[in-house]
Amino acid sequence: MQKTKLSCIDCALNNCEHRGETHPTFCPTNNFKLEEHAQLIERLEDEQNKRIIDSAAFSAHVGHRQKLSHLEETVVFAQRYGAQKIGIAACISLAAEARAAAKVFRAQGFEVVGAICKAGCITFGDLNVPEDERGPDAVLCNPLYQAQLLNEEKTDLNVVIGLCTGHDALFLKYADAPCTVLTAKDFKFDHCSIRALREDDPSGDYEHLVSQKVHWDHA
Ligand code: SF4
Repeated sequence: MQKTKLSCIDCALNNCEHRGETHPTFCPTNNFKLEEHAQLIERLEDEQNKRIIDSAAFSAHVGHRQKLSHLEETVVFAQRYGAQKIGIAACISLAAEARAAAKVFRAQGFEVVGAICKAGCITFGDLNVPEDERGPDAVLCNPLYQAQLLNEEKTDLNVVIGLCTGHDALFLKYADAPCTVLTAKDFKFDHCSIRALREDDPSGDYEHLVSQKVHWDHA
């Protein structure tokens, strides 16, 4: 049986949020002394990081108090951060929504440039991949090219819309500008992936996934 290392994810107190006095024994706050974390302090004092932290605190506060949508909160964040040029990295299946997001950002005064996942039109056939390791020979999603396009545009902030799981990891890894996720892809729940984590969701997905190990094949 796999040994479970307890961490924040197992904490039912979450007292860190209010600087409460009681913490579980495994709480990392028990041993945290800011002055012992030179690298962390250095990163916190970095000009861009400070701006992001300030803008995130501002937009989260306004979003919470005024019950903003995530789109509205993203606009607030981008304004406070001082972004001029926003890059949109989107999945082609959500191109219409990406265009709608661009319209909103432009109306709010931002310059917008987008990169759709299929840009470049490469297929497995164009790559040096053995035939038995290739997927279907369709045009591949190309998150590295999306990142390159937005890097060349020198965007101030990138907004991710519905990139596939994993493609988002590569885009986030190679994008130069700070990135924020407007929408995660979810084929089943109309891109509202939090539903799968709700015990009372009528789909019963949560119960199903915590009660057994599930395997999906490639069909
Ligand atoms: S930091 Fe401590 S109190 Fe906060 S969630 Fe983690 S374990 Fe719980």
